[in-house]
Amino acid sequence: MRVFAAGLITETNTFAPWPTGRRGFSEVGPFRGDATTRGRDDETGVLAGVWKELAARDGHAFVESFFAHAQPSGPTLQRVYEEYREEILAELRARQPFDVALFFLHGAMVSTGCDDCEGDILGRARAILGPGAKIGVLLDPHCHLTPAMIEAADVIVLIKEYPHVDYPERGRELYEICMRAAAGQCHPVMHLFDCRMVGFYPTTTEPMAGLVSRMKEAERRPGVLSVSFGHGFPWGDTPETGSKVLAIADGDRRLAESVATEIGHAIYDRRETLLPRYPGIAAALDRAGRHPGVVVLADTADNSGGGAPSDNVSLLRAMLQAGVANAAYGSIWDPVTVQTCAEAGVGATLPLRIGGKCGPASGDPLDVVATVKAFVSDHTQQDLGPSRCPMGDSVWLRISGIDVVVMSVRTQTFSPDAFTGLGIDLAPKRIIAVKSSWHFQANFAPIADELIAVATPGALQMNFAAIDYRKKRDQEFFPRVPDPLGRG
Ligand SMILES: [Zn+2]
Repeated sequence: MRVFAAGLITETNTFAPWPTGRRGFSEVGPFRGDATTRGRDDETGVLAGVWKELAARDGHAFVESFFAHAQPSGPTLQRVYEEYREEILAELRARQPFDVALFFLHGAMVSTGCDDCEGDILGRARAILGPGAKIGVLLDPHCHLTPAMIEAADVIVLIKEYPHVDYPERGRELYEICMRAAAGQCHPVMHLFDCRMVGFYPTTTEPMAGLVSRMKEAERRPGVLSVSFGHGFPWGDTPETGSKVLAIADGDRRLAESVATEIGHAIYDRRETLLPRYPGIAAALDRAGRHPGVVVLADTADNSGGGAPSDNVSLLRAMLQAGVANAAYGSIWDPVTVQTCAEAGVGATLPLRIGGKCGPASGDPLDVVATVKAFVSDHTQQDLGPSRCPMGDSVWLRISGIDVVVMSVRTQTFSPDAFTGLGIDLAPKRIIAVKSSWHFQANFAPIADELIAVATPGALQMNFAAIDYRKKRDQEFFPRVPDPLGRG
């Protein structure tokens, strides 16, 4: 068989003030047929590598096409979206025929001219390939599952875990289902159940951990090929924004519908428990101060992984005001500070104005006197899974008792080596504060006695009822109304 693979990934925060353009997609990549070699440290390269290996194992021809991703920001510029989309489609057209086309997409990409980029790409791919080829799609759970995606694709599999540690595994599942379908050994039919909810669903704690197990249990039933939960991306305003369950059965529409509905109801019935209720900064610092062990605090609202600027320093300011010592804080996106410190040199002590630069969500900047302890050019950190994530030129600053990481490529803080890679010893630290909503848990849990998600000020507010949706079709969703499905 002939297998095609491509990827175009970004998660669009439609409320973010800055656009996503060519520079955003150039922080790593784009990769034109070389994601599995030049981009093997990137998640696109890891996944393309998984598919390439499986195709080689099975003796199939594998065409590795265009892969690119950008850090979440505002809508992608239409000309950039179209240019990348056409690169993928041109190669699909030129190198036909294909039995299977595999796409690694996010599912929440919005351009300045299109609310559903993934549905658009897949619809155009279908028009090129015709009805015979199988189209398989791997999506991030923070996606807007749309009718256009379901219409165009044969198989859609979502990453199940948040943190998204299972993307290689889900990529393998997608490949296997698509190859069996192409060989006529199964006939995937999909059903989408709308939970009519907007929410935030980490899977490392209950009740989501149990709900993920229940989805996996449903997948072991005869005739069920795949069950996914589309968490939705609350900060992307599109007609289809919201939480949905997708089930795929083998030729049995009613089975797909009954499984999607069953899992959808199981999630819906726990909706009150699933609502995030995080302590504010003062309460979190108080709790951390009284804890005898190592506490990791998450600056949840200023997570660049959701399109936030990562330069709101409210939590750092509060830590300094509280006299917190033996602490680390990272990573702040402030290229100006990095440049100033690189110029001053390691060992310099100088006044700096840190953060608060990008817009109202950044809050006020922080004026400090800091000592430059280290500078690393092209710093990276461990990502989720085997990939690494660029942080650009970065500095370690000592401000009172706190070791602070400032970076020049915007990303969330995934891993302790964001700190240790600059020389910061985390072993004696009592408090480590990170800019991440939940992904940090995968790599920080092993060194933490307690993880506290903090309701900080910033772009990613968790009061979902108050988000100013203009395009979202269903305005009567939970938690804006208590029981939109009328289940009591
Ligand atoms: Zn995600």
